[in-house]
Amino acid sequence: MSDANRKKTESGLKFETKLLHFGDEIDQTTGASSVPIYQASTFHHFDIFNPPQHDYSRSGNPTRQALEDYIALLEGGVRGFAYSSGMAAISSVFMMFSAGDHIIVTEDVYGGTYRLLTTILSRMQIETTFVDMTNIEEVKAALKPNTKAVYMETPSNPTLKITDIAAVTSWSKEHELITILDNTFMTPYYQRPIEFGVDIVVHSATKFLGGHSDVLAGLAVARTDELGTQLKRLQNGLGTVLGAQESWLLMRGMKTLGARMAHSEQSTAKLAAWLKGRKDITAVYYPGLEDHPGREAHERQSTGYGAVVSFDVGSGDRAKAVLNRVKLPIVAVSLGAVESILSYPTMMSHAAMPAEVRHERGITDGLLRFSVGLEDIDDLIADLEQALEAE
Ligand SMILES: *Cc1c(COP(=O)(O)O)cnc(C)c1O
Repeated sequence: MSDANRKKTESGLKFETKLLHFGDEIDQTTGASSVPIYQASTFHHFDIFNPPQHDYSRSGNPTRQALEDYIALLEGGVRGFAYSSGMAAISSVFMMFSAGDHIIVTEDVYGGTYRLLTTILSRMQIETTFVDMTNIEEVKAALKPNTKAVYMETPSNPTLKITDIAAVTSWSKEHELITILDNTFMTPYYQRPIEFGVDIVVHSATKFLGGHSDVLAGLAVARTDELGTQLKRLQNGLGTVLGAQESWLLMRGMKTLGARMAHSEQSTAKLAAWLKGRKDITAVYYPGLEDHPGREAHERQSTGYGAVVSFDVGSGDRAKAVLNRVKLPIVAVSLGAVESILSYPTMMSHAAMPAEVRHERGITDGLLRFSVGLEDIDDLIADLEQALEAE
């Protein structure tokens, strides 16, 4: 980033403006209106005594660097990192820990993170305790002499449970624990966990940040230089980096994050209220609903409720019938795109979870998860209505 651009980004611009004016939006050499795609693996040393700023694209690439500075600015951290997927970001961050370390993790963590912790990191003697993080007492009770970190995800998937971020970070600081938060569902547009003391924010940028179901990417942001140095060493050492093309595509998506989130959230509120009013829907989960447990905690730490709503249609058979009848949303895993996505946790994201554990966590056979896109909400509701009512 040039000095002129750094001054601009540090001049107290509002979030929506920063999305467009993030420092590298204009190429300083040509004036081009987007960051060039530096499709190069290596960089010439014009003078062997003065090596170029980037010398090899695993260690640093100007296009990826622009994206990394962009996400650091948006999250309010000191340093950002871009990875080949959300799981590449999350697994690289967990490589900070060593055999014998213990980590406290929210029980309804993303399925891939659960798999990483219980089948890969467990082999490396990194120990995990899963707790209900809506209850700070459970977090406290999980503390062991070898605890090194707390890993949060709020709102969680798919029942949108809320963790009180400040309660966890202030307790964690007393015990010198590192706090990590998966901010995929809210994005920095609605929630900036570093402002509440979180040390490392991670993202599946495949979802809302990318926003178009066309790029797989992960991001991480460090709150301090020291953590940034550690994450840099891991990203370079593990080689889990994002390519230049994908970095560019992600930045293109991120520019419209504000407009997309605001539109989708308005639609989601309408959809949630409509679902709530139907007698044949047995439960609706959305942090914006009056009776959502954790709504108050959520409002202290977020400026919006997001664009994902989950609801129970009563039975597995009915859920499958709805999935086969809807015409507008794509029926798929993933979320956070311009097009609406309807998911079936029981047979998709949570298929590997034993039915008993699944039901205990409210992931019933009738539960559907709707990620609301940019379609006209009345069309989406009419489509869902015909799917619910056809017999
Ligand atoms: C999708 C997702 C991930 C994993 O990201 P990938 O880009 O699929 O690797 C992690 N956390 C959450 C909350 C997700 O939704």
